[in-house]
Amino acid sequence: MQFAQLFLRSAFLFLALIFPPTVWAENSTLLLRFLDVGQADSILVIQGEHALLIDAGNNADQKMVLAELEQFRLTRLDAVIGTHVHEDHIGAMDAVIKKLSVGTVYFPRQTATTKTFKDFVTAVKSKDLKLTVPHPGDKFDVGLAHLEVLAPARADYDDPNDFSIVVRLVFGSTVFLFTGDASFESEREMLASGRDLSATVLKVGHHGSATASSATFLAAVHPKFAVICVGTGNKYGHPTAAALGRLEASGAVVYRTDQHGTLEATSDGATVSWRMQK
Ligand SMILES: [Zn+2]
Repeated sequence: MQFAQLFLRSAFLFLALIFPPTVWAENSTLLLRFLDVGQADSILVIQGEHALLIDAGNNADQKMVLAELEQFRLTRLDAVIGTHVHEDHIGAMDAVIKKLSVGTVYFPRQTATTKTFKDFVTAVKSKDLKLTVPHPGDKFDVGLAHLEVLAPARADYDDPNDFSIVVRLVFGSTVFLFTGDASFESEREMLASGRDLSATVLKVGHHGSATASSATFLAAVHPKFAVICVGTGNKYGHPTAAALGRLEASGAVVYRTDQHGTLEATSDGATVSWRMQK
């Protein structure tokens, strides 16, 4: 082996030892945008050239969500996740699917007779895509970030919110848990599964409803930050004092889209920093 080659190889090994690969690689940040879509969810995840959209707000949020995707010059999403059937999660997903190139559309085994759901399915079909049902333990990558599916474990819940797809995204030593509208029942199943639920950032379940974010679930997640996607003056009284109390007791710093507008989190693989719209 020539000296120059040996030198380069040693230098490479040396750098790989000091810097973990996710931090060392180019485009080595993970960007998350918790969009202020009022009483609804929409979270954009970008890592390098790769992007994932978790939920797309209400039907009326179409313009805002598309503008957001355009702002980042996104023409392709590796995947979209419609967490469950309710309008405040898949409202504008049809427009997103029609406008952009999408790799995989994840959706639970759940159905509805609403126009919103029909529009969503029609958009999926119009792009020759299909709905992919994820199962706990399924894994895929968003660039250098690794995602694992935690829920739903079943397809026969009484509460439609418990069908919510829950995913845990790992980037370096920072972890993000997105719970859709999953409530106590799904939380119990995730705890019983024995999977690692710990996260740096928790997207709080069901807009801060009283029937999500149980104390035991929060103890297992042990979030440093908790984000509540919620609309000002919503008719459900979200976020509830009960959920806020449990979050406070967990020690998490709570951010809310109704108070802070769109929230941006950036991870360098070691720490998470925040920018708030207001
Ligand atoms: Zn919801």
